[in-house]
Amino acid sequence: MNEHVSSRSTKRAESITHRIASLALYGGTPAVPPGTVTPWPAPKKEHLDALAAVLESGKYHRVNHPIVADLEKRLAQWTGHWAVRAVGSGTAALHIALDHYKNRGHRVLTAALNWPGAVGPISISGLEPTFVDVELNLAGIKPDTASEMLEPGVAAVLTTHLFGNNIFAPSLRAAARARGVALIDDVCQSVAATTRVVDGDYIDSDVLALSGNGAKHLGAGELGFLLTRDIPLIEHVDEVSLTSSSRDSARIFSPNSQGYNYRPNVLSCSIADYRVKHLDQQLYERRANAAALWQGICHLPGLLPLFDPSDKHNSVLSFPLRIVPEELGFPSGPAARDLILKLLQAEGVPVWLWLTKPVFDYLPSTRGRWSDGDFPNTMMLLDTMFYVSEIAPPNDADVIRLYVDAFHKIWEVFPSLTSKLAEAK
Ligand SMILES: *Cc1c(COP(=O)(O)O)cnc(C)c1O
Repeated sequence: MNEHVSSRSTKRAESITHRIASLALYGGTPAVPPGTVTPWPAPKKEHLDALAAVLESGKYHRVNHPIVADLEKRLAQWTGHWAVRAVGSGTAALHIALDHYKNRGHRVLTAALNWPGAVGPISISGLEPTFVDVELNLAGIKPDTASEMLEPGVAAVLTTHLFGNNIFAPSLRAAARARGVALIDDVCQSVAATTRVVDGDYIDSDVLALSGNGAKHLGAGELGFLLTRDIPLIEHVDEVSLTSSSRDSARIFSPNSQGYNYRPNVLSCSIADYRVKHLDQQLYERRANAAALWQGICHLPGLLPLFDPSDKHNSVLSFPLRIVPEELGFPSGPAARDLILKLLQAEGVPVWLWLTKPVFDYLPSTRGRWSDGDFPNTMMLLDTMFYVSEIAPPNDADVIRLYVDAFHKIWEVFPSLTSKLAEAK
C-alpha cells in the first residue's frame, strides 16, 4: 500500500477515535456545563411577592379574592378576543367544554398522537373518542382524514396544539362548521394560539382550553382556563364545576350542579397574573432562542423540525425535532433517536422523549381497542421524535450556543459513530 495514503487514513482513524472519546457519553467533557441551564418554571422573587400578597389577604377563594376576576380580564385583554373563565386545570377546562357540546353527538375526533390528559375528559363526559392519524410537520390532526370522518354522530373535533405549534387546519374547521360539529382546541401548550395567529385573524374555534400548570407558559401551579365567545358555555362552567355558584358574593346553590369543584387556586392565579403581564416578553425570548437554535442546527443531516420555522406566532413551549434514521445510516425505528438522545443528554442538553405510545394505549377506556398499524405517521413520530425542553428565558443566546455546540459535536462523528457501533455489536 502507498505509505502516504496509509498514514493519512491512520491519522483520520485516530482523529475519529479521539472525537468519539471527546463525547461526554464516552467520558469527554460535556458541551453544556452542569448548572448552566435554568429549568422552567424559572422562579423569581416577584412570584414570591405575588404569593405573599394573597397569603396576607387571608382570602383564598375565587369568590372573595378579586385576583381571579382580574386575571380573567387581563388574559381576555391579552388575547383581544375571547371571554375567559379560570378553572382548576386545563383538563377541567376540556371536560367542561366537552360537557357543554356533548348533546351534538356521541363521538369526538381527536389525534392519536396526543396528551392523555386531553383525551381522558372525552370519556369523562360520556363521549367516545375516535382517533385520527397526525401529519408529520406539526404533529397535528390530519385535516383531510378528519374531514372525511365528520359523519353524523360526531359532536366535536378536539384539536390538540402540541409543543407551541399552531394547528390551523382551515379546511377541517370549515367542514366541521358546515355540519354543526363543535370545534374545541386544546391550546394548553400553545398559549399564543389564542391571539391573532391566522393571517391577522383568530382561529375559528368554539372554545380553547388553556393550562396554567408549572410546565406551561403561565407556570403557576394547578390552574386552567376556558376561552370562548359562547356565553352559555361561560355560564356552564359553574354548573359543572361549582356546588354553589356565588360569583357575586351571595351563595346560591345551583339546582344543576355536577359538583366537580374545579375552582381555580387563588395562589396560582397570583403567579399567573404576574406572568400574563410579561407574556409578550416571554414569548419573544422563547422565539428568539428557538430561531437561534434552529439556525445553528438546521443544516445537520437527518434532522427535521417538528414545528414550522416560518410561523412567527409559535408559542415555543418546547423545541421538538425528529430524526430521519436512514439519513444517518440507521435502520428505521427508534434506535437512532434513542442513541442521539443519550448522547445529547450526556452533553448536558435538556432533551427528552415524550410519549412512546399512541394516546389510546395510555387510557384504560380505549386501551386495546385501537390498532397501532392504523396510525403510521403517529408511530413514525413516536419512533423518531424528541424535544429540547429548556428553551425559555432566562436561558439566552449563550445557553443556546452551547446546545448548538453539543449537536455539532455529535453530528461530527456521524457516520463514523454508526460504523463503530456496528463493529461493536
Ligand atoms: C398540560 C396539558 C393538558 C392538561 O392541563 P392540566 O392543567 O395539567 O390539567 C392538556 N392538554 C395538553 C396538550 C397539555 O399539554
